[in-house]
Amino acid sequence: MFRETVTHAGGDSKGTARESHALMLLRRARNSGYAMEATITGGASIRWTRVDHSTRTLVARAIALDPETPVGDLDDTTRAHLALIDLGDARYLVRADGRAITTADGEIGALAAARLRARRLVAVDDRGRVRLTMAARLGLLAHDHRQAGGGTDGFAMCSCGFTVHGPTGEAADEILRNHRQTVTARFVDSITAAYAAAISTTR
Ligand SMILES: [Zn+2]
Repeated sequence: MFRETVTHAGGDSKGTARESHALMLLRRARNSGYAMEATITGGASIRWTRVDHSTRTLVARAIALDPETPVGDLDDTTRAHLALIDLGDARYLVRADGRAITTADGEIGALAAARLRARRLVAVDDRGRVRLTMAARLGLLAHDHRQAGGGTDGFAMCSCGFTVHGPTGEAADEILRNHRQTVTARFVDSITAAYAAAISTTR
């Protein structure tokens, strides 16, 4: 579940959004060519401008999606577990020490599995199938594309290795922001029909 904040002419409206609604907003934004960026907490921000017909000026609009449970620190072990689950065919199974997650390429022990669930990084359907939540996927994406250096002298670097040289630090930061928006748009494009169907059945 996400907290949804919509910025419009009258100010901000706040509500909640299920994963399926968050995905619909991201897909709609993608189709409209709006700028969007995954956030390190596992959310996303969507920004666009529209013409206000009464004043004939461009006005800024935004939607912020923030997970009710921020994804927190995605350390190496957590990321390795999430990558295993993301391979597909992950199942939640009863073991002697509790419920473990089996994957196509190894098992995640009961303690770690319980932690992934408590942190809302994975969701389990009524048939025991395990998937990453939208928040986990957005958080991983943002983690892979953090500002990793520079920001001065026209140089900026992304943690994925993408480096930028611009005339100024601000210009370089802007190019880096465009890069993060591009990878977020690609992420939205990469979401499969099967994943969309899986989140639409989660309450
Ligand atoms: Zn990057």
